[in-house]
Amino acid sequence: MLIVMDHSATADQIEAVNASVKEMGLRPEPIPGSQRTAIGVLGNQGYVDDSTIRNLPGVREVIHVSKPYKLVSRDFHPEASVVEVADVKIGADFPPVVMAGPCSVESEAQMFASARAVKQAGAHILRGGAFKPRTGPHSFQGLGVEGLKLLRRAGDEMEMPVVTEVMRIGQLDDVCRYADIVQIGARNMQNFDLLKEVGKLDVPVLLKRGMSATIEEFLAAAEYIVAEGNGRVILCERGIRTFETATRNTLDLTVVPLVQQMSHLPIIVDPSHATGRRHLVPVMAKAAMVCGANGLMIEVHNNPAQALCDGAQSLDGDDFALLMQELQHLYHCYQTR
Ligand code: PEP
Ligand code: MN
Repeated sequence: MLIVMDHSATADQIEAVNASVKEMGLRPEPIPGSQRTAIGVLGNQGYVDDSTIRNLPGVREVIHVSKPYKLVSRDFHPEASVVEVADVKIGADFPPVVMAGPCSVESEAQMFASARAVKQAGAHILRGGAFKPRTGPHSFQGLGVEGLKLLRRAGDEMEMPVVTEVMRIGQLDDVCRYADIVQIGARNMQNFDLLKEVGKLDVPVLLKRGMSATIEEFLAAAEYIVAEGNGRVILCERGIRTFETATRNTLDLTVVPLVQQMSHLPIIVDPSHATGRRHLVPVMAKAAMVCGANGLMIEVHNNPAQALCDGAQSLDGDDFALLMQELQHLYHCYQTR
């Protein structure tokens, strides 16, 4: 960390900053310049909280050299991490893993028909929301524990691990009882208490990018989980809010290679929530794969027209089967190049 003082900063102000740095157990190293003094801060192991220094008289700027995430960074862990869920491996050079299923668990018939369709098409992990973070309170809120049970039964029957969202700490016991991967949705990416709580568990976590989160904030959120001891984190890009209204969100595929350079954690892409439109999902899924995504999350419903949630972006079984074939082909082309 580098503390840049105002050019008018007095010797007393510089001394006060030095004292404050020492109080934090760190070493100040004043660097006098012709215009102003800078103070280098030495001895820190990682990111330093600058809140006691930033507002001291005479301080112009605090420049961080260390990032707010360390454990998830490549500097700390150069090798790509692989998250294992049952016999599915996600990350590094393993083939992209496809998580698919309905937005929400609606009924036994819907869940099982959708699960059968994604299994037949070759998906690896079954998704289905039981606790739904809906924008408005009048929309279908999910079946809750009943939905978790149906998802689990469908997963067992299809021999697929299951992923589902947890919205708050109070739901964690139930979600962990029935799910193989716990999903933290975009709206909860910075629910720091929830992040810390899943960090204490031994369960894979799918962390979705907040809709206006920077990459640094995304990785810092993952750091919360890893810092508590749970390293089994899978990141998920699901589109961000921009000025564009033609699509539900704007799919930021740049994060895939960028995050893979910055972090050792696997990253998958959700083109369903990113686009909000069914016809855009297959092409963006393929684009994500070409970018090197470690997997995909795709909404598939046995009857999208009747879906209680996100029908407009859900593929039906046939469209999904076609997409899976195309992904296979694309992957093969890239492997044999
Ligand atoms: C979901 O995957 O069900 C979901 C609500 O996604 P997001 O958090 O990305 O909006
Ligand atoms: Mn959805």
